[in-house]
Amino acid sequence: MNKKEFAKSRDAVEEALGKEGLSRRDALKLMGVGGAAAMMGATPASAEEEGAPSSDAKAGIVVVGGGTGGVLIAARLRKAAPNAEITVIAPNDIHLYQPGQVFMAAGLYTEDEIRKPNSDLMPDGVKWIKDEVKVFDPDSNLVETAKNGKVKYDFLVVATGLQYDYEGIEGMRPELVGRDGISSVYLNDPLKGTARGGTATWEWFRQLRAAAEKASESAPITAIYTQPDTPIKCGGAPQKILYLSDDFLRGNGPTGGLDVHKNVKALFCKKGDKLFGLPEYNKTLVDEVTPMYGNITDKWNHVLRKIDPEKRIATFEHTYQIKGEYDPDLEEYDMITKRETVEIGYDFIHIVPPMKAVDAVADSPLGWPKGTAKGWLACDRYTLQHMKYKNVFGIGDILGIPLGKTGGSARHHGPVVQENLIAAMEGKDLPAKFDGYTVCPLKTQYGKIMLAEFNYDGPAPSFPLDPAKPRWIWWAFDLYMLKPMYWNLMMRGLM
Ligand SMILES: Cc1cc2nc3c(=O)[nH]c(=O)nc-3n(C[C@H](O)[C@H](O)[C@H](O)COP(=O)(O)OP(=O)(O)OC[C@H]3O[C@@H](n4cnc5c(N)ncnc54)[C@H](O)[C@@H]3O)c2cc1C
Repeated sequence: MNKKEFAKSRDAVEEALGKEGLSRRDALKLMGVGGAAAMMGATPASAEEEGAPSSDAKAGIVVVGGGTGGVLIAARLRKAAPNAEITVIAPNDIHLYQPGQVFMAAGLYTEDEIRKPNSDLMPDGVKWIKDEVKVFDPDSNLVETAKNGKVKYDFLVVATGLQYDYEGIEGMRPELVGRDGISSVYLNDPLKGTARGGTATWEWFRQLRAAAEKASESAPITAIYTQPDTPIKCGGAPQKILYLSDDFLRGNGPTGGLDVHKNVKALFCKKGDKLFGLPEYNKTLVDEVTPMYGNITDKWNHVLRKIDPEKRIATFEHTYQIKGEYDPDLEEYDMITKRETVEIGYDFIHIVPPMKAVDAVADSPLGWPKGTAKGWLACDRYTLQHMKYKNVFGIGDILGIPLGKTGGSARHHGPVVQENLIAAMEGKDLPAKFDGYTVCPLKTQYGKIMLAEFNYDGPAPSFPLDPAKPRWIWWAFDLYMLKPMYWNLMMRGLM
C-alpha cells in the first residue's frame, strides 16, 4: 500500500467513523486491533510484547499449508518458540487474499491487488519446503510429500484449507465458469495464484446488466444464485453476490447506469429455509434487505444437482415435508420428508460449488471417520487439538468443528493453537479455548455491510453498535483497511 492509497483509505474510514459518531482511536480500541495503528503511523506490538506465551522448548514443528492459517501460525510460532525448528510444507508460490475475490466481482479490486508472492510472507527462520503432502501418517509422526520424500515431526499443524467439488454437480466443471451465463466467485487456483472467479463474476455482473437493459419488467430474464448443502468457506459469499449484483442492476457500483433490476427475476436456491442461521441477522435480511430489492425469490430447500449449460437448465433436488398419520399419543402429525426433482431454466447462474476436506486429510487417520463432518480434521472444537493424536493441531477451513470457515476465524484459531501447542510441547494442560468466533461481513448493497460476528453461544459483536444493522463504516473498513491489515499484521502473526 503506497502513501497515496493509505491516505485515501484513512480518509474514507475517518469519514465513516464520523458518520457513526465514533473517533478513529475509539473504534480501533474497541476493535482490539491496536496493531491497526501500525498503518496509521505507530509501530505494531509484537506477539511477545503483548505477553503471548512463549517457550524455550526444542521440537520439530511441521505446518502443512501456506494459506491464511499456515502462514499466520508459522509466524506466531516462530516468535513464540525460538528454539523450535519450524517447517512449512506449501506448494504455492502465490498467496491470495481470498476475501478480496468478492470485491473483484464487484469491480472494485483487480486480481493483482489480492496476490502476493508467498516468499514475501514466509517468516524468517522458517524452513519452507515447496511441496504438497500426499500422505499423513500420524502413527509414525511423519508426512509424505510429492517430491521431497518423508518429513518427520514432533508436532504437526494441519492448515490445508478445503477443496472445491464443482464436479459434484452433474455437468459442471470449473472450466465452465465465465461461459454460457455461468459464474462462481469462489473459483481460484492457489497453485497458479489466480482468482478467476473474481474476474469472471465481474464480467458476469456486466453481462447480466446488458441483458437486463434489453429485457423488461413484463418479460424479465432469470438469474439463479445457488448455495450447496455442504459446509462452505465464508458462508455469506453466496448472498454477497446476490445482493451486490442486484444493486449493480439498480445502477449502483463503479459504472452506474439506469435501474434495471426489476427486469431480472432473481432466484436464491439453498438448503434450509433461512437466510442466516442466527435469528438476529436473519431478521435484517428477511425484513429489510430482501424487500429492498423486491425481485428476489428464495427457493428454500433447493440444492443444485445438475446443470445443462447448452440448454441453460439447472436441476435441483427439492426436499419438503408433508403431514403423515396423526399420532393420538403425541397429539401431532408425523412429518414425512419428500424429494422431487425441479428443473429451472435460466439466463444467468452463479454457482457456489460443494466443498469438502482435501483428500490427503480425508483419506488419512486424521479425518473424522464418519458422521456429518466425515473427512474434516477430527479435532476438539475448543482446543483445536486432534481427538486421537495429541501432537496434532489444526487451523483454518480444514477443521471439523461446527463453526468457523473464515479468515477471521483462522485469526482467532491462531492464538489458541499457539498457546496449546506450546503447552503440549512443555507437557502441560492445554490452557486456551476457541470460542467458535466467526465473522461474516455480509455486503447487503454497494456501500453497506452487516458485520455478522458470532460464536458458539450466539452473536458476538466486537463493537457497541447494533451488529444486525448494515453500515457504511464496515464497508469502508473491509474495502480499504482489512487487506493491508491482512498482509501487514495478520500474516506477520501480529493480530
Ligand atoms: C470468495 C471468498 C470470499 C471470502 N470472504 C471472506 C470474508 O469476507 N471474511 C473472511 O474472514 N474470510 C473470507 N473467506 C474465507 C477465507 O479466505 C478462508 O476461510 C481462509 O483463507 C482459510 O484459510 P486456510 O489457511 O484454512 O485455507 P487457505 O487460505 O485456502 O490455504 C490452504 C493452503 O493449503 C494448501 N494445501 C492444500 N492441500 C495441501 C497439501 N496436501 N499439502 C500442502 N499444502 C496444501 C493450499 O494450496 C492452500 O494454499 C472468503 C473466501 C472466498 C473464496
